[in-house]
Amino acid sequence: MDKVVIITGGSRGIGAATALLAAAQGYRICINYQADEDAAHRVLEQVRALGAQAIAVRADVSIEDEVIGLFHRVDNELGRVTALVNNAGTVGHKSRVDEMSEFRILKTLKTNVLGPILCAKHALLRMSPKHGGQGGSIVNVSSAAARLGAPGEYVDYAASKGALDTFTLGLSKEVAGEGIRVNGVRPGFIFTEFHALSGDPDRVSKLEPGIPMARGGRAEEVAEGIIWLLSDKASYATGTFIDLAGGR
Ligand code: NAP
Repeated sequence: MDKVVIITGGSRGIGAATALLAAAQGYRICINYQADEDAAHRVLEQVRALGAQAIAVRADVSIEDEVIGLFHRVDNELGRVTALVNNAGTVGHKSRVDEMSEFRILKTLKTNVLGPILCAKHALLRMSPKHGGQGGSIVNVSSAAARLGAPGEYVDYAASKGALDTFTLGLSKEVAGEGIRVNGVRPGFIFTEFHALSGDPDRVSKLEPGIPMARGGRAEEVAEGIIWLLSDKASYATGTFIDLAGGR
């Protein structure tokens, strides 16, 4: 079967590393992004240089009309999607809950929970035999924060990833009989630009002493887990999670 993957937030960080690894595994690749077109096109060039057929598509995953447009582009330019990496995510500045605005909480929940659910919905419409599909694989990028709660930093973000984990479990059971596997990864502190969103770009380096392995992780180390879960090598894994958090 041809392999066609959509990687949300594929323009930077963990998503970009996943796109590069997917290129080496023979996938046709859709790199989704929200705003940073230059970053998306840099990854697109790198992926094409590895010989992969690929496109970059701007869409906010938390708006269903834009998700529909994203999937139509993939239908027309790459073919029926067989794999989805729900990777796009956001976080607000380090805050206590009593300091959080409704806008910030809603943005976090819409991007990190509604977005993956909408993308999974439109993937299922192409993967499920009920809709003429031949199965597929979905990986949701959660966070160690789902287990740890992130008190004093961003409990809203941790709660969004907890919701994503519950979605992963429920959906995996809902579609297990349709040849569709749904799994998650929970990264710990990974060196990406994500931490600038929380107000401290050097956050990972500062927190390294508290990590059992005494170092932050690399995006490529997370991508390895994602690509394994997507692949047939993980053919009996569904509703499961790989913690990639250096022992946290
Ligand atoms: P990153 O470097 O900040 O990249 C985020 C990506 O998501 C970018 O491509 C961004 O696109 C895209 N994005 C954000 N909001 C979007 C939206 N509404 N619609 C579509 N795309 C959107 O982040 P990262 O560190 O690679 O994180 C990737 C995932 O890993 C996230 O789900 C994050 O929660 C999770 N994670 C990260 C860490 C860590 O330490 N880095 C730890 C645990 C979990 P634009 O640039 O165009 O906006």
